[in-house]
Amino acid sequence: STAGASASPRAYLVVRGLTRRFGAFTALDRIDLEVRRGEFVCFLGPSGCGKTTLLRAIAGLDRQDEGRIEIGGRDVSHAPPADRDFGIVFQSYALFPNLTVDDNVAYGLVNRRRPRAEIAARVKELLALVGLPDQGAKFPVQLSGGQQQRVALARALATSPGLLLLDEPLSALDARVRLHLREEIRALQNRLGVTTIMVTHDQEEALAMADRIVVMNHGVIEQVGTPEEIYRTPASAFVADFVGTMSFLDATVAAPGEIRVGARSLRVADGRALVPGCAARVGLRPEDVRVRGVHPDDENAFEATIEDVEFLGAFCRARLVARDAPGLALLADFSANLMRDVGVEVGKTLLVALPPDALRVFVRSSPMADE
Ligand code: ATP
Repeated sequence: STAGASASPRAYLVVRGLTRRFGAFTALDRIDLEVRRGEFVCFLGPSGCGKTTLLRAIAGLDRQDEGRIEIGGRDVSHAPPADRDFGIVFQSYALFPNLTVDDNVAYGLVNRRRPRAEIAARVKELLALVGLPDQGAKFPVQLSGGQQQRVALARALATSPGLLLLDEPLSALDARVRLHLREEIRALQNRLGVTTIMVTHDQEEALAMADRIVVMNHGVIEQVGTPEEIYRTPASAFVADFVGTMSFLDATVAAPGEIRVGARSLRVADGRALVPGCAARVGLRPEDVRVRGVHPDDENAFEATIEDVEFLGAFCRARLVARDAPGLALLADFSANLMRDVGVEVGKTLLVALPPDALRVFVRSSPMADE
């Protein structure tokens, strides 16, 4: 097979031109993706974007209409799931209810006709690994949701697969258990070094767990990057909006490095040669608004009125509107210290500044199309 000729030598999973249609609907549109050996990758996106369909195609649980899948250097595009060397954990625990915990974990090993003693030792080791020693004789119904997911994880890892696939494994659990288990899964994955793909619609989960995030929307990949890259330099307004909080300003490109929001002109440190006249959306994270020690002559400084304040515990998030440009409305975060120092109250006016390098410009249309 010539599969992987153009793939990076570190790639363990290679997906090329993967397309999946359901009737006239295209759920996956020519997906290209590489996952490196030992990497923890999250597929992130809103409901219906295609992330589960992509995971199922990789597993061979669903067929693709076009494209190629390679796992560990082998073309498995048309191989049955059993020949793809993965373990999988689903959202609903999907344990065999009539089998004990031991027998659930042993399942894949029994199928492979491993010797009894070896299976018993491996099951014991795995249950210890997921923090459930001495629970082997119980039935799934006797365990909590979090414990059942640990068993599912042990079962998925039993045959030491090259690839671990996690399909929203935490979404059915309550918040505390979820936080705890996500740390444990990540620690376990680090220890074992198993290449892992996790599907999630929870951006916080993806930011906290992933080495790299694959952001999907309408069957295509919008961006692939480390959590920091995705958060700091989103490739599209969709990514910026889906991951973290971002205020968007409707703007027009005035000149390279300068945009206009209503009557206000703002400097942006955007290296691209933006064409004057283009309509743009300009994004800004609430934590990037400067609210302390601003001088009227500072770059992008203006007076803004606090319209609304949301108390969020460690900080509060205020909605600000520029006094001389009503279209210049944005969110700004105030830490607990700042709340005390600045005094954050509805109706108050303060001087704020928008750092040029924190303003992300997403071009909407050419000046021609705008006419
Ligand atoms: P969710 O988080 O809601 O599961 P998702 O990103 O995982 O979303 P998919 O389950 O991959 O989304 O589905 C992608 C799109 O394909 C959806 O619009 C869905 O309705 C459609 N789809 C998925 N499976 C089928 C099917 N068997 N028949 C028809 N349409 C399907």
